[in-house]
Order: sequence, then structure tokens, then C-alpha cells
Amino acid sequence: MKFNPEKYSLPDNPMEVFIDPDEIWEYLKTAKADKLAVRDIIQKSLDKQRLNLKETAILLNAEDPELIEEIKEGARELKKRIYGNRIVLFAPLYIGNKCINNCLYCGFRTSNKESIRHTLSDQEIIDQVEALEDNGQKRLILVYGEHPLYSPEYIAHTVRLVYGIKKDNGEIRRVNINAAPLDIEGFRTVKQAGIGTYQIFQETYNPEAYSWYHKGGKKMDYAWRLTSLDRAQEASIDDVGLGALIGLYDWKFEVMGLVRHTNHLEAVYNVGPHTLSFPRIKNASGLAITDKYFVNDSDFTRLVAILRLAVPYTGMILTARENPKVRDEVIKYGISQIDGGTKLEIGAYAKKSLNEKQDLNAEQFEIEDSRSLEEIIDELTDMGYIPSFCTSCYRKGRTGEHFMEFSVPGFIKKFCTPNAILTYAEYLCDYASPELQKKGWAKIYEELKTLEMDGYNTQNLISRIERVKQGERDLHL
Ligand code: SAM
Ligand code: SF4
Repeated sequence: MKFNPEKYSLPDNPMEVFIDPDEIWEYLKTAKADKLAVRDIIQKSLDKQRLNLKETAILLNAEDPELIEEIKEGARELKKRIYGNRIVLFAPLYIGNKCINNCLYCGFRTSNKESIRHTLSDQEIIDQVEALEDNGQKRLILVYGEHPLYSPEYIAHTVRLVYGIKKDNGEIRRVNINAAPLDIEGFRTVKQAGIGTYQIFQETYNPEAYSWYHKGGKKMDYAWRLTSLDRAQEASIDDVGLGALIGLYDWKFEVMGLVRHTNHLEAVYNVGPHTLSFPRIKNASGLAITDKYFVNDSDFTRLVAILRLAVPYTGMILTARENPKVRDEVIKYGISQIDGGTKLEIGAYAKKSLNEKQDLNAEQFEIEDSRSLEEIIDELTDMGYIPSFCTSCYRKGRTGEHFMEFSVPGFIKKFCTPNAILTYAEYLCDYASPELQKKGWAKIYEELKTLEMDGYNTQNLISRIERVKQGERDLHL
């Protein structure tokens, strides 16, 4: 591939590797972060245009503290202006930790003999999901190791099972998956089960580093993983999530990799990723890597702000790997989704059907935010956010919801804020403590006032809120 700062040519075969490490390094080595350039680039992003690799590299090379502040301020402004103050909540559910791969950073890797392997039975899945519903969860991401047991048919079965589990007013309205790469036929099978987003992380975009960390199993194949989202697209899954595991290689390179991957999907399929993830490495049983590339909190905040500006239309996910202080800080710079009440040990949401042995050492890595869902919702409310469980666009067939939020004027006021309010109202009625109910309703009425002041007719919304109070559910717009 030739170095060209402005253009991304369409590959002859989309299934070929489209990441060129020399090209990425060339951008990083040559981009000059002078004040005017940085300010122009921030403005371009505020004007709702995705940044190219050269512009992203310029932001990454800004080391002057004043410029870094401007970048963070730009990201904060973009989030406020375009996305408002909703934060979508979800929970991960680990279905099974059998794994044929040997990723040096992961507690599930095959050489970790300490790890106790377990795959939830159907009854155990039902118990877990009922416990999650009892907490108020409406959106889940199912997570699987890579193993012949976790075939497309099995994944599809678990997705259907989860959609069918209803307890009291509880139901899961969106099931996303994080699973190993499939072939096109396999993706068709999981698509038919009604998955929301198919999420997969490239871990590191640098092929050499990738070989270093992946020492066994199918995951050793960089190209098979990199092109998984192309195969997903071929199978009509256009709702996909990208990610890089931060701490395996140079973080600036990984940001460039994520942007390059985004460009590729846009150029070939005319649709960018639905979400971006940038998990930092956390301690895991038998973790076998050095901290050479670990990223401190202040660089992590920069990373989030730069990604926000680089791909302004995409949802950004921050998980409970991060501690509450980091989460509260970083959310400001562009995060749209967080998990709440997370437990990673297999079977930890409802222990009744597992024996004690299975409960031991069956987590993939350690999380740093163990707050309950209610605590997180309480704190989000204090910080001025509207917690949201909205799944409306996806269920109304409005795919590319983030893109619409971003590109359709008034979309947020018409759909996102009212739906966030309605799902928050449901949560308050069904699951919240009396203290949170008081605080939550005050927040909802404050939001209604803001909508009215913005010229939005809230009558329909108010009558729906009343219907929620009377016991009706799922009144999404
Ligand atoms: N086995 C599938 C795969 O590898 O794609 C499923 C996903 S794995 C269970 C979910 C993600 O967790 C991985 O893609 C990786 O980025 C992340 N992960 C693994 N070990 C981690 C660690 N020690 N700290 C933080 N994240 C980790
Ligand atoms: Fe297996 Fe995924 Fe862990 Fe690698 S990251 S060892 S593939 S579960």
C-alpha cells in the first residue's frame, strides 16, 4: 500500500489485510502538531466530519499541555453538542470460558491450568438472566471463549434463549455478542437469532506484536481476525463494534489502527462501526506480559478524547475494567455506553445453580468498578446524566442509530432523550430504592423542562410517562 495522507483506496479484495504498519508509522513520524493545525482539526470534528489518518496523527502528536487541554475540551464540547447527556447502560454475561487460544494477557487462555472451565447450562443461563432482569438490566452482551463448543448454532441458541427469558416486568431487549471470528455462513446463523451488535477486538493492530501475544490456537491468525467484520458485513451484519486492547503495543498506533479500520469499513461497505472499545489491560490469573506499553490515566484520557474527535459519529464504550474515578472523569470526553453491576466470574450474577468449585477463579481478568447498577445510576444522576436502557432504534428498524443521532437534526430531542427518559422511568418504577426514585423523578422533570425550553412538545412524552407509572412497559418512540 502506498503512503497517501488523504486517500484510502478501495482494496481489490476486502478480505485482505488492509493495515499497513509502515504507513501508520509514517503518519505518526511526520505529523506536526502546531497550534493552528490542531485547532482546525478540532473544528472539523465539531463540524461533524470524520478525521483522516493524517489529522488523527496530528492530534496524537500534540504534547503541549495547553493543546492537550484544547483537544479534551473539543471532545467534551462535541459530546455535549451532539449527544446530550444520556449514558446507555448494559451488562456483560460470560457464557463460557473454554478456550483453544493462548493469548498471553487473558485468564481464559489454554495454558492457564488454574482457570476452572465452565459453560453455563441453559438452566444456568436462565438463572443468570433472571437475576440480571431483577436488577433492571435490559441490554446484555454475551461473551464466549473460542472453542468448538461455541459454534454459530450454539451462540444463536443462547441468544434466542436470552431473548425468551422474562421475569416480572423484566426482559432483555437487546442481546449483543462478543465472540471469536466466524465464517460468513456462521455470521448468517447468529444474525438470524437477532443479535444487536457483533463486537470483536483486534487486540493490537500491529501484526508483529499480535504474533508475540497470540501463541496458540486459531487466534494466531491476524488476518482472519482483522477481516472478521468484512465477513460479518457480507452476512448482512452491519452493526459491528471494533476495539483494541490498550497496553499491548504503542497506544498511538492502536488509535491509528482503529481509525484505519473505520475508514476501511466506510470505504468498502459505506457504514462505519457502531461502537469503539479501548479496554486497558487488567490483572488476570497467570498474566504473562510486561507493562512496557501500559497507558497511564492521563494518556488514557487523551486517547478517549482523540478517538471521540476522530470518529464523531460512533458510540464509545467504557467498561468496569476502569475504576470509578477514571470512569467518572473519562465519560465527559465522549463515552456513550458503560456497563453497570458487572460480574465477570462465570455464573456470578446468580450463584444458586453453580457449585462452589465453579465459582473459583473463573473470571477472565479483574475489574476495578464493582459498584452495583443502582449505585452507578445514582451517581450518573448526581452528575447530571440521564441513565438510559433504550433499545428503540434497533427494534424499530432504525439501524445505524448513532449515525442518525449524529447526522439527523433534532433526532436526539425527538427520539433519544424521550426514550432515555421512558426507560429511566421504568427503572425507577420497577427496581429503584425510594431514595433513588425521589432523585430520579426530580431529574426526569428537570429534563422535561429543558426539552420544553428547547421548543419540544412534551405532551406525548408526559402521557407516556403517566402510562409507565400505571404499569405499561416498553412504550418506546
Ligand atoms: N474469546 C473471544 C475473543 O478473544 O475475541 C471473546 C472475547 S474475550 C472473552 C473479550 C475481550 O477481553 C478480549 O477481546 C480482550 O480484548 C479482553 N481481555 C482479555 N484479557 C484481558 C485483560 N487481562 N484485561 C482486560 N481485557 C482483557
Ligand atoms: Fe480465549 Fe478470548 Fe481469552 Fe484469547 S482473549 S484466551 S481467545 S477468551
